Amino acid sequence: MKKLIAGNWKMNGLSADAYNLSMGIINGLKQSPQLGSACDFLICPPSIHIGLVQAFFNGQDVPVELGAQDCSEVEAGARTGEISPAMLSDIECSSVILGHSERRQFHDETDELVASKAALAHKNGLVAIICVGESDAEREAGQQNAVVEKQLLASLPEGTTAANTVIAYEPVWAIGTGKTATPEDVRQMHQFIREKLQEKLEDFAQVRILYGGSVKPSNAEELFRVPNVDGALIGGASLKADDYLGIASAALDIADAA
Ligand code: PEP
Repeated sequence: MKKLIAGNWKMNGLSADAYNLSMGIINGLKQSPQLGSACDFLICPPSIHIGLVQAFFNGQDVPVELGAQDCSEVEAGARTGEISPAMLSDIECSSVILGHSERRQFHDETDELVASKAALAHKNGLVAIICVGESDAEREAGQQNAVVEKQLLASLPEGTTAANTVIAYEPVWAIGTGKTATPEDVRQMHQFIREKLQEKLEDFAQVRILYGGSVKPSNAEELFRVPNVDGALIGGASLKADDYLGIASAALDIADAA
C-alpha cells in the first residue's frame, strides 16, 4: 500500500503563504514525479483557504488531494461558524481530519462527537481521518493502550470501512514538541491498533494507520520502516514544501529498496 503523506496546516498562513506553499509542492512534485509511485498526497489547509488552494492545484496535473481539519456533525442549519461535510464534498475535498488532539483539548470534543462527525462525513463521501493518542501523563502511568483503545472504539461509527476511514496515532506529547515516539513505541501501538480494528472490521488489514507527532525528513524513514505505519500526519513540517516532500522521499527510498 502507498504511504499517505497528509499535511495538516492547522491555523497557519495567509493567502500569500498558501500560494507559496502550494506552488512549492506543485513544483517539487513536477520535479520528482516518481514520488507519486510510493505516496498518496493529502493537504488540509485552513478551511478558508481550501477553495483557494484548490484553484492553485487546478490543472497542474499533480496527484494531491485536499481535505479539511474538522467538520460539523449536523447536515446544515443554525450552527454559526461551522462547515458541513456536504460543503466539503461540494468543493471536492476527499477527506476530513476528525478528533485531532487540539480539537479534543481546546473544543472539548468527545469520542461520541467524533463518531457523529465521522458518520456524517462518510455519508457525504469523505474519508474520515480519526486521530487518537495518549497524553504524557497517561503514557507515564502506562495507560496508553487503554486510552487509545477507548478512543478508537468509541470514535468509529457504524459503517466504518478501510475505504472511508484512516486512523492517525498521534501521541499528544509528540505533537509540535520535537519529541518523537521511538520506533519501538510506534511498532507496539500500531500493532495494537491493528488488533483492535480486527475485532471490529472485516477489512481491518487494509485500514491505513498513520503516525503523527514531530515527523520530519530526518526521522521519516525509520518511522516508515515500522510495520503497520502506512503514512504520516504532519503538522509543522507540512508548512515547508521541501520538508513535506522530503518526508515523501523517505517513503520512496524504502519502496525502491524493497
Ligand atoms: C499534528 O498536529 O497532527 C502533528 C502531528 O503536528 P507536528 O507534526 O507539528 O507534531
